[in-house]
Amino acid sequence: MNMKVLIAEDENITRCRLEKFLEEMDYEVISCKDGLDAWEVIQSENAPNLLILDWMMPGMSGIEICRKIRERNTEPYTYILLLTSKNAEEDIVTGMEAGADDYIDKPFNQNELRVRLNAGRRIVEMNKDLLEARNVLAKKVIYDELTDLYNRHYMREVLEKEYARALRHQTDLSCMLLDIDYFKVINDTFGHSFGDLVLREFSDCLKREVRKYDFIFRYGGEEFMILLPNTDVNGARSVAEKIRSTCESKVYKDGINSTIATVSIGVASVKYHQLSESKELIAFADKALYRSKSEGRNRVSVYKKDSSVESKEGRISKIKDFSYLKESISSILEKTKKASIQSLCLMVRNLGADKYQKHNRQVVQYIELIGERFNLPPAVVESFKNASLLHDNFKILLKKTLKSKDKRLKAREKLEIESHPYMMAELTGLFDFFANERSLLQQHHENFDGSGYPVGLKGDEISLGARIFATVDSMVAMLSERSFRNGLPPEKVIEEFADKAGSQFDPKLVFIFFDIIEKQGLLSVPEAALMRAKEKVKDAMIKCKS
Ligand code: GH3
Ligand code: MG
Ligand code: MG
Ligand code: MG
Repeated sequence: MNMKVLIAEDENITRCRLEKFLEEMDYEVISCKDGLDAWEVIQSENAPNLLILDWMMPGMSGIEICRKIRERNTEPYTYILLLTSKNAEEDIVTGMEAGADDYIDKPFNQNELRVRLNAGRRIVEMNKDLLEARNVLAKKVIYDELTDLYNRHYMREVLEKEYARALRHQTDLSCMLLDIDYFKVINDTFGHSFGDLVLREFSDCLKREVRKYDFIFRYGGEEFMILLPNTDVNGARSVAEKIRSTCESKVYKDGINSTIATVSIGVASVKYHQLSESKELIAFADKALYRSKSEGRNRVSVYKKDSSVESKEGRISKIKDFSYLKESISSILEKTKKASIQSLCLMVRNLGADKYQKHNRQVVQYIELIGERFNLPPAVVESFKNASLLHDNFKILLKKTLKSKDKRLKAREKLEIESHPYMMAELTGLFDFFANERSLLQQHHENFDGSGYPVGLKGDEISLGARIFATVDSMVAMLSERSFRNGLPPEKVIEEFADKAGSQFDPKLVFIFFDIIEKQGLLSVPEAALMRAKEKVKDAMIKCKS
């Protein structure tokens, strides 16, 4: 683009010569006959930044225009070349002091004007480049490149300002932390650049959901923060809920891949949570976010004080109570169950099957109604609801897996259909993740000869895991120092084990254990002692067989 130049000159001849000459040099020329017109052009939008001003003009002199321009102090820089017919020393000084960058005598010499204009043009261009670089840099300082949201660095600044403002005006301020659920899976399944697309579109969605004066930040990889000035906890909760439900039904696609992504949200508010520091706003929202995650994701939680950590004494007395302990630990399981089912739903929805959801919602409604009618305990109703969710999800997964294209396989299909309850049970079994551990722990104090507790199981009736655990656990306990006694020397430990082989411990396991100790040189036991112990265990093994 050609550079614009303003010529302000009242003498027709000089003005025409200048216009002609500058147009030949490829400048875009705007020319005025008097100072007031020139000043108007200078103040307009997209005004030229290179000016040739006559000193003496009707309306406003070149010198006056110079002073006014420098007073404004605007950017980009305006370069001023004064046209003068006077050569007196003090006039040049006056011109320069008024803010002119250079001057040229009338009648002007074309070559001189060319070089002086070129110098001015370079300065204007350099200044424009500098401004652009500064803008880019300023943008980098506060914006996130991928999403065009504010970045985390800028968040600190805004948070401090908004917190101080809320205190000063006694207004509320709410904070929302958002984390996309299972985002890693999206990256792993569709690749990082599709993940980036999801992040960008998710961000655009956030921009549409909040008010003009709310601030959205990219807090981390797939974590976001929204600051809502003048918003109380209920307001923030409902905005969060709207965001959550919009996200839930949004499909991300790029022509090849398509997926959905849900979001978990935590909310905290200055007034409701009686905060005393700005950083508590983030800390509390983060705790609430964690609760949303652990309760199954795709949900909004407002920060709540955890009753079990309210006071130290209160906590101790509660934990002493076995049923309270049991309840606390089962709530971990409930959360895990919910999270597992949610992941399963997500997996199915990612396969593009979402019609079944409506069906499932209706089933769940009926289950709830029946539960109410029969006054069933909530835990039972919950388990019915879970079962129906598992059923619907597994049904779709099995359908996708078993679908046979070959018509001749009808017989096999029939078989598959009939055995589908077994398959469902087997798949459900995968979720029963502590069944094995449970039997081990229940039997870990049973003795090989039946003298243990709680049941008095004997030999092979005790699970192998429980027998191995009992042997290893006792060995380590005997060797290690306890507060009430020193650890036993290795030789004594070996002796003790040989004595108890067949009664407390499974002799076969003890023998294998001794073998390992010998081969690996695990304990510093004299060889003879180990041999003696092994013989003893062998006897015990024979005795047990007979
Ligand atoms: P959760 O439901 O527990 O939040 O699971 P998650 O998989 O979302 O959680 P996690 O925080 O473990 O994973 C976040 C992932 O986000 C890991 C990281 O590779 C990815 N990620 C972070 N920044 C970017 C990014 O700029 N682009 C892409 N594509 N991925 C990113
Ligand atoms: Mg004049
Ligand atoms: Mg995360
Ligand atoms: Mg995440």
